[in-house]
Amino acid sequence: MIHKILKDTFGYGSFRPFQQEAIESSLAKQDVLLVLPTGGGKSICFQIPALAQDGMTIVVSPLIALMNDQVMALNQNGIRAYSIHSNIEYEQKNRIFSEIDRGEVKLLYISPEGLQSEQLRTYLQSKPIDLIAVDEAHCVSMWGNDFRPDYVKLSMLKAAFPSVPIMAVTATADGSTQADIVDKLNLDNPAIYIGSFERPNITLTASPGLDRYGQIKQFLAQRQEESGIIYCTSRKSVEMVSSKLRADGFSADHYHAGMEREERERVHQDFIYDRVHIVCATIAFGMGIDKSNIRFVMHYNLSKNIESYYQEIGRAGRDGSAAEALLFYSYADITLLKRFIDDSDADSVYKEVQHAKLDRIWDFANTAHCRTNIILNYFGEYKSEGCMHCDNCLNPPELFDGTRYTQMALSAVKRTDEKLNLNLLIDVLRGSGRQEIMMNGYQHIKTYGVGREIPSKDWRSYISQMIQQGFMSIDYSAQGRVRLTPLAQEILFEGQVVKLAKFVWQEKKAKPKRAARVTEFEVDEPLFERLRKLRSAMAKEQGVPAYVIFPNKTLEELSAVKPVDEISFSLINGVGRQKLEKYAEAFIGEIKGYLGK
Ligand code: ADP
Ligand code: MG
Ligand code: ZN
Repeated sequence: MIHKILKDTFGYGSFRPFQQEAIESSLAKQDVLLVLPTGGGKSICFQIPALAQDGMTIVVSPLIALMNDQVMALNQNGIRAYSIHSNIEYEQKNRIFSEIDRGEVKLLYISPEGLQSEQLRTYLQSKPIDLIAVDEAHCVSMWGNDFRPDYVKLSMLKAAFPSVPIMAVTATADGSTQADIVDKLNLDNPAIYIGSFERPNITLTASPGLDRYGQIKQFLAQRQEESGIIYCTSRKSVEMVSSKLRADGFSADHYHAGMEREERERVHQDFIYDRVHIVCATIAFGMGIDKSNIRFVMHYNLSKNIESYYQEIGRAGRDGSAAEALLFYSYADITLLKRFIDDSDADSVYKEVQHAKLDRIWDFANTAHCRTNIILNYFGEYKSEGCMHCDNCLNPPELFDGTRYTQMALSAVKRTDEKLNLNLLIDVLRGSGRQEIMMNGYQHIKTYGVGREIPSKDWRSYISQMIQQGFMSIDYSAQGRVRLTPLAQEILFEGQVVKLAKFVWQEKKAKPKRAARVTEFEVDEPLFERLRKLRSAMAKEQGVPAYVIFPNKTLEELSAVKPVDEISFSLINGVGRQKLEKYAEAFIGEIKGYLGK
């Protein structure tokens, strides 16, 4: 039964991890807490029970944008679903209610505020409700970033609908948030399913923030027409990057909390409907972004912790196709973030925690090991073999004997009495003639210019690694001066060998250019392009976002399999009954045209 719904309605041949379990528990009338990563396919877990039963399912969702996205997708699959929120006109509401009265509506999306209305609640109590799903359930928890007071009031649901099972779903819940959800929603002996946090279709890369704009431009040049977000810390850099990109001919816009509401809404819509490809934004561009075909998320600056970083990059690749996350980082970033923490009004314990979290993401940025594993470990999931979708796994850094370089750097720090910041240290090593050096007489020390043959960028990487290995540290309380640690002695005087990872400049790294694109299917690029154009024309005609018609994955499979009759078309993932009826003819026509048939 549920497999049939999965194929007939949604067009998928098999369940993803924990989907079937969650659906079955719910059909057995048990409360469920389901934690799956973004893109893990949580919606289907309450949509299939909704279709498998006679009555109606209520879905609580925190944002209008999220509701609209799901309702549009359901309608495309031929399912009667509506959302009720403050922007819905009175008449439209009445129409929805009469359809509910006739028992024709399968899913009703409501905001938590909406459920506060006594009248609406009483009305719904008189209807056959099979299930109440609470999407983005972590919003009940004060521990997370997305706390919503109205979500806490959902605690009344259990009392108001005592015989209706509740399913709470979320992508971001550590142990304390999970307990909070169970507690606040009064879940009764819930079945709890927790999937892996890993997002195997996202390639993780981190790169030193030198010539960031140049690196970005190069990255984008290979990804024309693809959607992505560039996160920056400040509103000023958001606007700066976006206007530079426009000047360079890219389709870019910007978004931050300082803009008018309508303006923000416009940018959001333009992005969803692919009228603009790149949005430069502060983290204010957040949870409402359910666009499933985001191909990359870049961080122009270091994030403040691993939680935020992972939540932000999680917006990429929800459709399961290959996506990329590129993080830039620099000492200037970490210095600024440290200052934000110190200058905040928080108490010292809180500050200490924030500093520690910042250190962890700094380690993540600088590591030569598997980045995914660092993240998984951070969230308490242990895995030791490499992920094969991060830069360090795909291009393992080559190690060399860096003892001499390390001695040069340490000795320069020592001979200048630990007074240099990183830039100045590199300039001394490279024998720069800059005024600050001349004035302090650093040109006379023995290590002046000994590292002339190593470019600055490389020095920066090597010194970072020396800091990582604990031979030096940066004193953020004293203008970022580089200090020696007790370990430095062993390198300088006891002949300990130091291994360093060879520095490879980002653009020279063998780009995982659409690497995952070919993993599953032998994608036929010219055909894919034709199908994409067809999809966009149809989306325009219907006034829906392109990804609602078919996700990229379906187009990739179509381009590889090239079905030219309805039966083979119906076997493609993402083609359900409704979409077969609506789209098979046009897409088959395009494929035949391409094959010259
Ligand atoms: P989440 O809410 O967990 O972030 P969604 O429910 O939005 O994820 O699903 C992400 C994408 O995965 C959607 O395009 C959805 O249609 C697709 N999907 C869900 N379940 C499956 C499945 N069993 N097989 C293939 N694709 C699936
Ligand atoms: Mg979701
Ligand atoms: Zn890895």
